[in-house]
Amino acid sequence: MPMLEVRNLKKYFPVYGGVFLRPKGWVHAVDDVFITVQKGETLGLVGESGCGKTTLGRCVSGLYDKSGGEVFFKGEDIFAMGRAGLKALRLKMQMIFQDPFESLNSRQTVGQILAEKYHIHQKKYPGMNEEIARTMETVGLEKEDMEKYPHEFSGGQRQRIGIARAVSLDPELIICDEPVSALDVSVQSKILNLLLRLQRELDLTYIFISHDLSVVKHISDRIAVMYLGKIVEEADADTIYENPCHPYTEALISAIPDPDPDKTKKRLILKGEIPSVENPPPGCRFHTRCMYAEDICSRKEPLLSVRNTRREHFAACHLF
Ligand code: SF4
Repeated sequence: MPMLEVRNLKKYFPVYGGVFLRPKGWVHAVDDVFITVQKGETLGLVGESGCGKTTLGRCVSGLYDKSGGEVFFKGEDIFAMGRAGLKALRLKMQMIFQDPFESLNSRQTVGQILAEKYHIHQKKYPGMNEEIARTMETVGLEKEDMEKYPHEFSGGQRQRIGIARAVSLDPELIICDEPVSALDVSVQSKILNLLLRLQRELDLTYIFISHDLSVVKHISDRIAVMYLGKIVEEADADTIYENPCHPYTEALISAIPDPDPDKTKKRLILKGEIPSVENPPPGCRFHTRCMYAEDICSRKEPLLSVRNTRREHFAACHLF
């Protein structure tokens, strides 16, 4: 049984307008998405800002209600769980956020921030402070840091506090929402390596959300590429990188600088801006920017279908 299974998931947000601010449309942030995450693996979710990847992560963790579809965590439908079930789920499924400063209460010490989870889930016990100190050391902080406030740390250290909070009390699945985007490149690799080590040591499963395909490739076993609320390609990380089937993935890969200065790579420039999710283009949602678009592309929506059964490679494109 997969750790997580998402079927036909939809999340629409109402758009209000007019003098009386009545609903006048819907933003299709997540539209008919299927993903599966096996225990112990990392699924990378990549796409430009506004493509719906953060909304997908929040629906999966039960922070947002769904507009349609189903999400199963270890075979249990999370939207059919009562309040007690959702509270227990939050213990097993944690999130790491992009901006550690925003997600940490500036008026609490690190010790208080980390103890809060124990209080909420009624897990307070005499050895709690020692356990919190051990968790801090696991993520590369010091026991003495428990008395400090978030503003006394650097960006990378603050993200370590966010990670300590996520990994305490034995979670199984962690949704990492752009966890390194706000950090310097040198700090990014340290945080990524920390996440990889914790995955091995604590037997964790990750969904790793980022707009940066090079970062996603470094950490993921499988990658799902998202465009305007839909998954357009999914495969293992090497296949996506070496043999992309969807033109959008191809363009994202072409934008990654090659570390070998002798290799010249042709960069594919996408035309125009990402269209509005309130009014997505008909047919293939990517047709307004695609360099290979043909007549059929604006008329018929391509479905996510198998490109290579052995490698479980899926893509939604008429031509490939
Ligand atoms: Fe491009 Fe057409 Fe494929 Fe869409 S279906 S990605 S527009 S070639």
